[in-house]
Amino acid sequence: MSFSELGLSSHLLRALAERDYAEPTEVQTAVIPSAIGGRDIWAQAQTGSGKTAAFVLPLLQRLQNSAGGTALILVPTRELAAQIAESVRNYGRYLPNHAKIVTAVGGVSINPQMMALRGGADIVIATPGRLLDLVDHNALKLSAISTLVLDEADRLLDLGFSDELGRIVALLPDDRQSMLFSATFPPDVSALAGKLLRAPVRVEVTPARKTAPNILERAIEVDAPQRTQLLRHLIQTDAWSRVLVFVATKYATEHVAEKLRRAGILAGALHGELSQGARSQVLADFKASKLQVLVATDLAARGLDIVQLPFVVNYDLPRAATEYTHRIGRTGRAGETGVAVSFISASTHAHFRLIEKRHSREIPREQIPGFEPIETTVPDSPATGGIKGKRKSKKDKLRDAAAGRVNEEIKPLGSPKSSYRWHRI
Ligand code: AMP
Repeated sequence: MSFSELGLSSHLLRALAERDYAEPTEVQTAVIPSAIGGRDIWAQAQTGSGKTAAFVLPLLQRLQNSAGGTALILVPTRELAAQIAESVRNYGRYLPNHAKIVTAVGGVSINPQMMALRGGADIVIATPGRLLDLVDHNALKLSAISTLVLDEADRLLDLGFSDELGRIVALLPDDRQSMLFSATFPPDVSALAGKLLRAPVRVEVTPARKTAPNILERAIEVDAPQRTQLLRHLIQTDAWSRVLVFVATKYATEHVAEKLRRAGILAGALHGELSQGARSQVLADFKASKLQVLVATDLAARGLDIVQLPFVVNYDLPRAATEYTHRIGRTGRAGETGVAVSFISASTHAHFRLIEKRHSREIPREQIPGFEPIETTVPDSPATGGIKGKRKSKKDKLRDAAAGRVNEEIKPLGSPKSSYRWHRI
């Protein structure tokens, strides 16, 4: 299958030819023709699958066919919004009528966005909170939206945007096209899809809870206080080129980055409390290889699309199993190979087991000479370390009880009820 068979105009094909994509990805082949035809889309696709082009190309094509109205792309984070905007510009660069794109995200002044929306827009890429602010300021009428795209819908709900989404959807016209993309389909995302989509074309690119096969997952046992040293060792000894390191807190991003810098490694910190300018700068530096290591929190790193990011490190493990998928999906994008390393210490051992269980896999444990852990776990200690799973709603719990399902909810990390024990040998 080639791009030219998908119903795209010569202008779009020209822009694609410049990208040197050999052929459309699976999600693109499945979504593009139906979306151009105006169908609703229900797509289970992870980052790295080429899902952005799968919805951007039909939007641009329909724009040319003068389908009219404004397309609204809702995303969980500003970084993802910026990346999608860049894709729209890239793919749309040869269109005779340039698409007017407005990015409407929080964390920056609303006024330029209000100005930009004057006279309407072809494509609005927004985070839900800021979009509603703009609606409240009468800068945008949601009744003029002809196409809705929810990108990374699972993450939108994880970040607590459910109420905002409800408000937004209530203001949209009924006769719209809707597309929903999500890496995972837990019950809340499925419910949202059920509410939003009409007779959708279902596309499933990766089986639920499986990660792309071109990512090598490694689990290295190390004592927590040794993690920075080990990280430094791996980066230097194994000559890791470009590394994204996930940590749990804003403080840790700064702290770990600083320690690496002191060891002569070009490292930067990225977290949600940096100003938008600082976030963009550090990302640009990382993309331009001025930084070798980026130490980030989940929020800041969400949706990052960095071509050739061979290494991802879980310095701190993610709280939720779904987050693990998102994190390691930063590497191994679009056919490249990647390595995702998780540091496992005595206190996170059980937690990692739960993540593995959720993803139905077992990753062999490794130890690196010179960094063998001295803190070990009691082998059969109960797995109560816990991860923040999807909390079930009361309704779900009742439904489960009615169906006789066991409540598999996992307790929060570091729960005081945890009976986890560890000792020194
Ligand atoms: P996405 O899943 O949309 O985040 O895209 C992941 C990466 O794949 C991006 O860097 C895209 O530029 C790239 N990509 C998109 N479509 C293709 C394709 N057909 N062939 C190769 N790479 C692609």
